[in-house]
Amino acid sequence: MRAARLKSWARVAVALALLSAGWGARAQTTRAQTKAQASKAKGGEARWRSALERVTAEDLRTHLKYISSDELEGRKTPSRGLDLAAEYIARQFRAAKLEPAGDDGYFQTANWRLSARDASAFRLAFKGGPAVAPEQIGVGFSVAGFNFWEPEGDLSLSGAPVFKVDYANVPASLTREQVEGRVVLTELPAFPRGDMGRALQMLREENEFLSRMRGLGAPLVLAFERRSERARGGRSPRVFDPETRGAGRNTPDFGFGGAQAAPVLFVHGAAGARFYDSLPAGAAQTTADVRVPAPAESPVKVRNVAGLLRGSDPSLKDTYVIVSAHYDHLGVRENCDQTKEDCIFNGANDDGSGTVGVVELASALSKLSPRPKRSILFMTFFGEELGLVGSRYYGRHPLVPLEKTVAQLNMEQIGRTDDSEGPQVGTLAVTGFDYSDVGAALERAGEAEGVRVYKHPTKSDAYFSRSDNQSLADAGVPAHTAGVAFDFPDYHAVGDEWQKIDFDNMTRVVRTVGRALLALADSAQEPRWNEQNPRASRYVDAWKKLHGNSRQ
Ligand SMILES: [Zn+2]
Repeated sequence: MRAARLKSWARVAVALALLSAGWGARAQTTRAQTKAQASKAKGGEARWRSALERVTAEDLRTHLKYISSDELEGRKTPSRGLDLAAEYIARQFRAAKLEPAGDDGYFQTANWRLSARDASAFRLAFKGGPAVAPEQIGVGFSVAGFNFWEPEGDLSLSGAPVFKVDYANVPASLTREQVEGRVVLTELPAFPRGDMGRALQMLREENEFLSRMRGLGAPLVLAFERRSERARGGRSPRVFDPETRGAGRNTPDFGFGGAQAAPVLFVHGAAGARFYDSLPAGAAQTTADVRVPAPAESPVKVRNVAGLLRGSDPSLKDTYVIVSAHYDHLGVRENCDQTKEDCIFNGANDDGSGTVGVVELASALSKLSPRPKRSILFMTFFGEELGLVGSRYYGRHPLVPLEKTVAQLNMEQIGRTDDSEGPQVGTLAVTGFDYSDVGAALERAGEAEGVRVYKHPTKSDAYFSRSDNQSLADAGVPAHTAGVAFDFPDYHAVGDEWQKIDFDNMTRVVRTVGRALLALADSAQEPRWNEQNPRASRYVDAWKKLHGNSRQ
């Protein structure tokens, strides 16, 4: 899932208008046919059908227009926009008469910390080499959006000699004598667009490089970044869980070395690049003065939103199925002039679409009479974009017992059909499709709703650990993510707006997830991890641990 260039808006709008007209007509005939079928079917199916038909394109559009509106400022964790989104979701849960399942009504509150550095206290100056005015140099400390370097304290270097290393050609013979105490200057390559696997590989390579430099005694790496004039992201406050402080980075699954890596500061712009180019390789006469101020901390509240539809079966109502999505996104572009350009990451598809899917299912399924046998927990998570931190928080602080949670269905990017591999109309991919029985449950639901639920040959397994199902899977709960487009234009770009959503297709997809949810909630049989699939073995083990030996 990586960004691509924004398409011509006009062309997209015309294409969408044409396409949605076609789908609208088809959707009407489908609805008429299924109504006729439903009247013939027995009680259960008719009941499900009428509940699922309460999921409508109109409702989804209404909810998403608000959730992805500019007013919510991209729903960054934490932000005023994120809070507004949480309050909206809670209002919908209240209107659906769900039981509040959090510690504060519908909110599960995480008391976290904000850490920010005073940008005006940054210093970087060079002496004894090519002349460069300090004010010409911009400094940030981010790596491609992942702030994985976050030392607790400050960093202060005075008169530290520099050492220039060609990143593409790092000499294997580098010794500690050469590098120790020196600031390493280098240029890191740009990440490719549209190739998540390659980008992650490059990130790992960068981390290996940074770890090696630290191992050789370099106190700091200065990475010259000639493509951008200004720092992005690195100076904005960082939110973190004091419980897990020092336990690793936001995204441990990506294999960052974290504390083992040398800190890296990015130097942006042409002036810095000219300075870098003028230096000889290896040790130079130049010295660097660097000051990175210590971060100041303050408390912050971030919230998951949770509502419960209590089950109706005396023996199954204390067991749970979770349906979820993340309601956070990336916020507002830094150093962006809102009077001249679009600066807001609206996140309509990522993951406004999944969020309003949860909200709409809460409304539709809460009117079922009798209610499903098991209880259903409707959840939206904060902090997915920071590395799944809201769902990981839930995994450590479950609102209903994990050993009584039989499955989680998580929705991601269910609104856009314009995938990089071609249009994805009437299809739904499931991550870790055959790791558990849940994939097959979704497949059967899709057959009834006219949606082909499938295992993507390369992405279904690769994306399993990249969304908010992972935390519960780690705990042993069969948990998967369902999505329509893995990779769409505007991914993590300001053009991810509600006008580009295919609401008719999304309606069918949400009904499919809702139907699978009902099947799981009404069945006395619990889904199980697939013991035949070696990729699921760690989850099989986690399930056994969660349930003790009694149920093996
Ligand atoms: Zn997402």
